[in-house]
Amino acid sequence: MKASIIDGKAVSQLVRDRVAQQVASFVAGGGHVPTLATVLVGSDPASEIYVANKHKACEAAGMRSVHHGLAADTNQAELVDIVRSFGSDESIDGILVQLPLPDHLDADEVVDSIDPAKDVDGLTPQNVGLLAAGRPGLVPCTPSGVIELLDHQGVDLNGAEAVIVGRSNLVGRPLFSLLLGRNATVTVAHSRTSDLASVCRRADVLVAAVGVAELIRADFVKPGATVIDVGMNRTDDGLRGDVAFDEVAEVAAAITPVPGGVGPMTIAMLLENTLHSARESAA
Ligand code: NAP
Repeated sequence: MKASIIDGKAVSQLVRDRVAQQVASFVAGGGHVPTLATVLVGSDPASEIYVANKHKACEAAGMRSVHHGLAADTNQAELVDIVRSFGSDESIDGILVQLPLPDHLDADEVVDSIDPAKDVDGLTPQNVGLLAAGRPGLVPCTPSGVIELLDHQGVDLNGAEAVIVGRSNLVGRPLFSLLLGRNATVTVAHSRTSDLASVCRRADVLVAAVGVAELIRADFVKPGATVIDVGMNRTDDGLRGDVAFDEVAEVAAAITPVPGGVGPMTIAMLLENTLHSARESAA
């Protein structure tokens, strides 16, 4: 294998340690303990694990977290009321509504009811707009985790050709703004892109956020590129990324594994966002 492995677990631990130190000095300086509120509707086992991991991470960083678990048949008005009440509760710094929501609920309206100053997932129209305009705001955790990994790896984004495969609101679109803000020349590919392989081969930095196991093959990758795999696909052979790891690792200079790449970064960046909100509310 030619590529070096970008160790997301290790980088995530560095971020978590950094946040823990900053929380300790914020509190020692008279600040309140930063607090994350999570809301989960229903009892999807995967979502329950994600939420539990977020609470554990908060605790390990010296933060507080509160949780509101709601029945699967909770109605829209009830959910929106709870989210709004967190917005007006001064002891709460970050609000996270675990997605996806059950089908009978309107996720857009729920997201719109999150106080933008506490929107640690960076999904409200206000934060989406600030990011698109290149202005400071709360940025979605997975794309900011991708940037953290690239920085840790020492990848020079200035003038680099970056290709993102996937244009979701959660990953592809915010990552476009972040990479553009770092002066990369950014292409966003999607399911209608013609000749995806040749578009991808332009990339010095290739990010796959698709949700199709091992879509990105060795012939999609420019020799020496850095490849970031956001994908998490449960297959009969276990968890797989969007990148065919073994063959792409023969071509790329650096690559993230799945698991152990982007995945661990998301929670680390959530902690950072919660601390950021706490600091802003104290300012
Ligand atoms: P999504 O909302 O389903 O978006 C997928 C994107 O991929 C869409 O833009 C779609 O294009 C594009 N696409 C689908 N099939 C394609 C194909 N054959 N060729 C080119 N583009 C294609 O997914 P997402 O939420 O961004 O998530 C993507 C992956 O990342 C999933 O595996 C998810 O589990 C994973 N993920 C991981 C983390 C983490 O913490 N590591 C966080 C979030 C997501 P269209 O727009 O044209 O439909």
